Amino acid sequence: MADDLINSFMNVPDDNGRFGIYGGRFVSETLMPLILALEAQYEHAKTDASFWAEMDDLWKHYVGRPSPLYFAPRMTEELGGAKIYLKRDELNHTGAHKINNVLGQILLARRMGKTRIIAETGAGQHGVATATVCARFGLKCVVYMGATDVERQAPNVFRMRLLGAEVVPVKSGRGTLKDAMNDALRDWVTNVRDTFYCIGTVAGPHPYPAMVRDFQSIIGKEVRWQLEEQEGEGRLPDTLIAAIGGGSNAMGLFHPFLDDPSVNIIGVEAGGHGVDEKMEHCASLTGGRPGVLHGNRTYLLQDDDGQILEGHSISAGLDYPGIGPEHAWLHDTGRAQYVNITDKEALEAFQFSCRLEGIIPALEPSHALAHVMKIAPTLPPEHIIVMNMCGRGDKDIFAVAKHLGFDMGM
Ligand SMILES: *Cc1c(COP(=O)(O)O)cnc(C)c1O
Repeated sequence: MADDLINSFMNVPDDNGRFGIYGGRFVSETLMPLILALEAQYEHAKTDASFWAEMDDLWKHYVGRPSPLYFAPRMTEELGGAKIYLKRDELNHTGAHKINNVLGQILLARRMGKTRIIAETGAGQHGVATATVCARFGLKCVVYMGATDVERQAPNVFRMRLLGAEVVPVKSGRGTLKDAMNDALRDWVTNVRDTFYCIGTVAGPHPYPAMVRDFQSIIGKEVRWQLEEQEGEGRLPDTLIAAIGGGSNAMGLFHPFLDDPSVNIIGVEAGGHGVDEKMEHCASLTGGRPGVLHGNRTYLLQDDDGQILEGHSISAGLDYPGIGPEHAWLHDTGRAQYVNITDKEALEAFQFSCRLEGIIPALEPSHALAHVMKIAPTLPPEHIIVMNMCGRGDKDIFAVAKHLGFDMGM
């Protein structure tokens, strides 16, 4: 296991979990003992070969890793520039990257003797991944989900129930992801003894952003050896591109390459109807400002009074009002570049992937692909782009049909 890469980059975060001025631990005193216990457990697990052996075994036999690194010949030819590789994390069990991280956290929970797992979910993807792994280990699972999201995402609610999870609709606030996260934190404080809080992206108080990143880094680690050995490129990629909701699949792809200055790194935020003063988008870095939410300091969508704004995106998985603190830091230091893509551009990319490669992508990575479509034609044929295809599109066909005016008869 290549865990030598873990924490190899400039020792970030620091001891207090800060990435520059971002990150940290903005939580109530009652939560501190829980967070310190989790941090201690993770610090121990990080260098424990038996922990990683168990992860490796589950990644291989349960999730289906390594996911293929696929050269996309027809996209490459059509765009007429850079060579395009897709990292096929949509082929993982449950159809996205989220399970990479959930497995890690649940193995930690087991080591800590916790028997009850709680999670928050927006579109339901993290809830489904958590319910799946809880079923695998016979753990009680409670998923907090905004009441509005429960209505909008009925298929995922039913999946979670089939998997044995209890789904708690959260009616406070606007009944979306932000409110579900608040209730999950409240549950955690109340049920300290037996409960583990499984966070679905590189957000939350330290150590979550670093820990989730480390679990997702399997994506970038695989790309490194796959490109060199398996694809015979014998070198590093030139450009990495990934879509960003909270930023976990992107951090997973980027992190193992942060120390390689020749590698360009591009994160793609959801531009919704366009990044302007109307705020109908979810581009926290391009259209937000720093503030504190969910236990860390980062860029947030907020109004002049610091109230958190509800973003908009065609893709429910990208509508988190913040972004992981490490991205905020990579943005400010200039190590990574952040762009945004509109709903309309993402829809075009979605169809492009279906028609040219026979891959129905989720709407989230369709944003990343739309940016690939913009830059690939401007780059030389020896330039290698690796894009993270972080989820499959089965969940999105209803939304896409609606936008394309196709009547599904439902
Ligand atoms: C949840 C999700 C995302 C957004 O989460 P990140 O933490 O930014 O990766 C993106 N794509 C898919 C397919 C998802 O399920």
